[in-house]
Amino acid sequence: MSQGAASAAVVSVGNELLFGETLDTNAAWLGRKLATLGISVVRGYTVGDVAEDVGWAVREAIQVADLVLVTGGLGPTPDDLTKVAVADVLGRDLVVDDRVRESLQERYREQGMEDVPPAAYDQAYVLAGSDPLHNAEGTAPGIFLRSDETMIVLLPGVPRELEDIVSGSLLPHLERLQRNASDRVWHHVIHTTGIAESRLTALVEERLADVPDEERLGVRLAYLPDLRGVDLRFTAAGPSRDDAFARISPLMQSIEDVVKPYRFESDSGDLAEAVNQILREHGMTIAIAESCTGGLIAKQVTGIEGASDVFSGGIVAYSNESKIDLLGVSSADLAEHGAVSETVATQLALGVADLMNSDIGIGVTGVAGPSGGTEEKPVGTVWIATSLGDEVAATMCRYSGGRAAVRAKAGQAALAAVYRRLVDATA
Ligand code: ATP
Ligand code: MG
Repeated sequence: MSQGAASAAVVSVGNELLFGETLDTNAAWLGRKLATLGISVVRGYTVGDVAEDVGWAVREAIQVADLVLVTGGLGPTPDDLTKVAVADVLGRDLVVDDRVRESLQERYREQGMEDVPPAAYDQAYVLAGSDPLHNAEGTAPGIFLRSDETMIVLLPGVPRELEDIVSGSLLPHLERLQRNASDRVWHHVIHTTGIAESRLTALVEERLADVPDEERLGVRLAYLPDLRGVDLRFTAAGPSRDDAFARISPLMQSIEDVVKPYRFESDSGDLAEAVNQILREHGMTIAIAESCTGGLIAKQVTGIEGASDVFSGGIVAYSNESKIDLLGVSSADLAEHGAVSETVATQLALGVADLMNSDIGIGVTGVAGPSGGTEEKPVGTVWIATSLGDEVAATMCRYSGGRAAVRAKAGQAALAAVYRRLVDATA
């Protein structure tokens, strides 16, 4: 066992992963699952259905990790050669496991067959000295074994089966591994939105520059950007969450004032969840008028459980006529300023809040592209207005990227704007 937290390596096997036909969601899922157990994934390998390559990756992984998880290539088809490759690396034989054989026979008898078809019979073979891990979702069991100090686990590629085994029969082994380690790895995440990664990094690092290394106490900080914003992830190893948090806390304090204007609270990291929560706290409702986002925002808001308590309704007002007829946008303003303008965004927000009898209105109008841009309003120009009672705040944003990216960013920005307004209203 290495010092500190238990470490893991994931070997993903399959030509389809290399060709890009299948996304390696298993490795992603395992990374998250192990993180919740305080086990740190330190390396990942992706190899094709080639025995030597699987063997190479497993040999490498054993050198660096306490736990090696191999996914894929466990089934009965000829391209499934994980067992053979790993048996070769460890110098072990493949032997029939009676428990697996019997459960296979039972399964096939239930389906009205006399015996296990020869090809499927391969699944009864396991590495000598290993234990099968029950697979409630399929026929190929997982395989658990130890080699010297390392725990090695072979798992099916089918995500449902892998997840069932890891959360079921493998879990006690993982918990034991983590208990035996002196430390676990703990994460604490702060979600931010409305600030670019480069700017946030500069602000935060400027603060942290004043914190001497010895006061960082082994805490690491990562910046994780996506469409919504940037997550700050603090990581510390320690025997307990309290211990780790006691060391993360002072660092969080030292950046508190620069992060505060952009932070949002949400367990899942979803802005729509944060908006739902804060509307609920205020006992307020929201209505949404969307042009360029075409209902994206309403979709996100209604994706959260209990949306009916806080969401009155939404209108996709795409044509000028619908903006005028449904939401009372002034045709003179439309003619003078164009659909993508502060005044139209403002009238959309006020109009929809009025129509739906809501406390808050959102109006979004922009040029999603790829065509339709002008010099004055290039593709990616979006006006976002939020109304709270009679008071409207509107901002213009310029987004880069294709049509989908512009729409997604505009949707997130609109949710962020509502959230920020409600936070500020009660500050
Ligand atoms: P089977 O018993 O079905 O043959 P297996 O263990 O041999 O299972 P594979 O044949 O490698 O697994 O993959 C089965 C299916 O699982 C594939 O069609 C693939 O789409 C999916 N899959 C495999 N590996 C991964 C992965 N790393 N992430 C997500 N899906 C995967
Ligand atoms: Mg297979």
